[in-house]
Amino acid sequence: MEFFLEASLKGLSKWLRFLGHKTKICESKITKEDIFKYKDKFFLITSPETAEMLEKAGVRYLLLPRESLKAQLCLLINKLDLKTELKLNICTVCGEELIPVKKENFKDLIPPKVYAYYNEFNYCPKCEKIYWQGDHIKRLEKKLKFLLSQKFED
Ligand SMILES: [Zn+2]
Repeated sequence: MEFFLEASLKGLSKWLRFLGHKTKICESKITKEDIFKYKDKFFLITSPETAEMLEKAGVRYLLLPRESLKAQLCLLINKLDLKTELKLNICTVCGEELIPVKKENFKDLIPPKVYAYYNEFNYCPKCEKIYWQGDHIKRLEKKLKFLLSQKFED
């Protein structure tokens, strides 16, 4: 299942990609043409007017609260019963699927210290960017845990 998100939901899109879901962001207001073009995707929106259009078109969608990323993510995960583990198999910049690669073949793109320390590397063919599972994964896991926790505090 691929998601099509309203422009204001960039933050949520990033997290969906971390969880292994393909997303596309609408750069401007969602139009009838967009709905027709992307009718096979699952729409995530905050606008009741867009919800009405989607309802009429018979396209799957979920209307989310406007402000809080935490509320958006929790609602989405509960409603669609999504898995809450980090997959990190999608490029967070462009949304392309990453390819696991041998580090030997990308030595010139990897800082020497990282090269020495890590063994699992992924490559985005579109951005020509190399990803590795470094310390930031722990930070992401912590942030995800916070976002999914029931406590609504900052
Ligand atoms: Zn990319």
